[in-house]
Amino acid sequence: MDCGASAMVTLHRFDVDPNTIDSVFLTHLHGDHFGGLPFFILDAQLVTPRSAPLLVAGPPGVSTRLPGAMEALFPGSSGAKRKFELEVREMEPRVCFPSGSIRVTPFIGLHPSSDNAYSLRFEVGGKVIACSGDTEWTDALAEACNFEKKIPFHLDYRTLMEMSAGLGIGRIVITHMSMDMLEKVGQAECDVADDGKVFEM
Ligand SMILES: [Zn+2]
Repeated sequence: MDCGASAMVTLHRFDVDPNTIDSVFLTHLHGDHFGGLPFFILDAQLVTPRSAPLLVAGPPGVSTRLPGAMEALFPGSSGAKRKFELEVREMEPRVCFPSGSIRVTPFIGLHPSSDNAYSLRFEVGGKVIACSGDTEWTDALAEACNFEKKIPFHLDYRTLMEMSAGLGIGRIVITHMSMDMLEKVGQAECDVADDGKVFEM
């Protein structure tokens, strides 16, 4: 889910082989959510040789924004010959996107981006994982970005807890936290993500 600007740094830090990742699903096309892909793709080409196909699926616009980002950072890289197939697909809102054993359904969030900003619902192995992406509260999914301080088009902790109560959500994990939220993280009454943290489903 997403591939932010620091994704390669974090993969290396936790000894994750990038070749174990076969698909990247993007919530939206802001740099902190897809800006790591030019580095990921270049690494697959030159550093950690890849042969297996790589799927990148995101909102409409990804098939031009991704090559655009690659060209801005590494001119010539978007059209370079690769030893693996790079498949870039655009997902439509509320249309289930099947990929192997995973079914992904995007819902439009409230987050200004030149293209749709999605919250993503993943169905895999009989379980459902929802990734809010960046959004204000919507009835679809949620993300906590702040504790109480409200920032437009992001979700604060209080609103998340109020709105999600009674919805039957098995487990909430907060990601993408502001400094305000990080300072109060000990008060959170739900799980909080951290680099390298493992959650069992
Ligand atoms: Zn964003």
